[in-house]
Amino acid sequence: MSCTADSDLSFMEQYGALVLRDANRGIPASPDIAYLREVKDLRPLDFRGPEAAVSNSIYRVESVLGQAKGQVAPEACTNCAENRGPYLSCVLVPGRFGGSCCNCHYLRANCSFMRKSIPFSVVSAH
Ligand SMILES: [Zn+2]
Ligand SMILES: [Zn+2]
Repeated sequence: MSCTADSDLSFMEQYGALVLRDANRGIPASPDIAYLREVKDLRPLDFRGPEAAVSNSIYRVESVLGQAKGQVAPEACTNCAENRGPYLSCVLVPGRFGGSCCNCHYLRANCSFMRKSIPFSVVSAH
């Protein structure tokens, strides 16, 4: 029952995400990754620059998927407003990441949306 960590992150390449594999770590697996892989993409990723890269950290993989599939916040959170994080836009995934936007989730930073209710309906986007 050995898992092959390498092939499992190849789906990340479709997002233009450069995945830095750490051979000593396993495949990221989380309820959010499982959920987000089933949700359709809504946008190409808006990385700030080609240097943006993810590792196989669960938070970063979740963040990339969320950025492709979530909803653009009507107003950027305080970190996005100060150009922190790998993406140009502030994107939220309703009901996920404790209310954090994808930039803050990537950075594991405190997102100003975590202290507020999400500013749009949490009703499914389907
Ligand atoms: Zn943000
Ligand atoms: Zn944020």
